[in-house]
Amino acid sequence: MQFIETRGNDGKKPSSVSFSEAILSPSASFGGLYVPESLPELDKGFLEKHLSSHYKTLALDFLDRFGIDIPTNVLEAAVNRYDGFDDPEFPVPVVQIEEDCFVSELYHGQTRAFKDMALQPFGYILSRSAQERGENYLIMAATSGDTGPATLETFKNQDNIKVACLYPEGGTSDVQRLQMVTEDAGNLKVIGVKGNFDDTQHALKELLASEDFKKELDARGIKLSAANSVNFGRIIFQIIYHIHSYLELVRQHAVVMGEKVYMVVPSGNFGNALGAYYAKKAGLPVEKILIASNINNILTDWINTGVYDISERELILTESPAMDILKSSNIERVMFDKFGAERTRELMKDLNETNRFELTQEELVSLQKDFTATFSSDEEGEEVIAAYAQKGYIMDPHTATCLKAYRNLREKAVPTILYSTAEWTKFSTTVSKALGHEAKNDMDALSWVSEHAHVTVPAMIKSLFAKPVVHDVVVEKEDIKGEMLNFL
Ligand SMILES: *Cc1c(COP(=O)(O)O)cnc(C)c1O
Repeated sequence: MQFIETRGNDGKKPSSVSFSEAILSPSASFGGLYVPESLPELDKGFLEKHLSSHYKTLALDFLDRFGIDIPTNVLEAAVNRYDGFDDPEFPVPVVQIEEDCFVSELYHGQTRAFKDMALQPFGYILSRSAQERGENYLIMAATSGDTGPATLETFKNQDNIKVACLYPEGGTSDVQRLQMVTEDAGNLKVIGVKGNFDDTQHALKELLASEDFKKELDARGIKLSAANSVNFGRIIFQIIYHIHSYLELVRQHAVVMGEKVYMVVPSGNFGNALGAYYAKKAGLPVEKILIASNINNILTDWINTGVYDISERELILTESPAMDILKSSNIERVMFDKFGAERTRELMKDLNETNRFELTQEELVSLQKDFTATFSSDEEGEEVIAAYAQKGYIMDPHTATCLKAYRNLREKAVPTILYSTAEWTKFSTTVSKALGHEAKNDMDALSWVSEHAHVTVPAMIKSLFAKPVVHDVVVEKEDIKGEMLNFL
């Protein structure tokens, strides 16, 4: 399987690349992204075959059908990273919360957010590919709280890879910050930045674009890669859990094989939703993908009207911070798939130059064949959290945005899968507030919720508060480069 470019080829880069090339150097011609030339088919035979498979078996067979240039033993070791999940045999539990509504819990991994689903195996493959080639890579991430911990965790102590992670000081939950600043390995650097997430991300972009930073990296023989969801190496693992969740509904007798389901995805950068789209396209019986957002509802606008306009928008900080995004990178892959490279390049050019683009009526109809969308406010989210806590199910504020989509967007009485993207422990002060207790800090919120809602706090969260802080650097934006060069 070769990979091609969403904005076409510039004549300098190869017109198609292997998987390993696409994940090590994820930036394509004209600022585009890599996508697979085709998808493996998820026919009934494949689905039937895996009705009784463990997650890892399903994953390996799917990867095998994708035909990527990664040796089987490396893929096996990569999916063995799921052994670090709560239940290695069953890393993604699917739990019924309504007669026709099931929650696929994607957060049972090392850092308690769904980022582990892809970053764990992907991190292993990327490191091994770098080692194979004898090349050294730097991965830089700006995080609002979930990507950072998951990226550090997957790459810690891996040869040939260094990771630098920037987070906004005061912009993450205590648990998220502790997950980063207590992560002790020589190849990791964590830097707090004075400012908000936008400032942090902006500072990172400037640094990555700076010529003398590139020269400094060259002089040290270090190449740049990326671990955010522009990297297809993450997307490939985000198709698998949608297949698993469907099979789980069959196993739980909620559907018979072949019957369709709705999928509700709480979305930001659209990686999770893109995985669902690819699974649907490859043949998984999906009626529609329902996109849930918070009040940064650019995706709702886009899917409902075809207009993507951020020219008059300011990012609003919400209680579902992982979805506080205005430029959603993976919609580009959907547009490429539906409208082709030339049109995608045109639309992305409009977005870069005017902060706006608009689909034609025909294109909008095509988009709405697969997607529909709505958004929730923080208050609506808190009501959902409180209502389900009453029934004995605790969910995080990102997952809570799904319920409105579930209630309002379905056109048919079809069973529905909601994706739960974080454990409540990562956003405990919000959950505590929703349940009626304004907590002083995460520690207070964790113990209050745990006691009042009778849920346990996993050991890896509890132990964070006793671990020594190894990364105590907090700098002004201007000083990031100096810190980075010191580290390298
Ligand atoms: C990253 C994240 C999201 C958004 O996922 P995308 O794939 O970027 O759309 C939603 N919820 C949580 C908790 C996350 O960490």
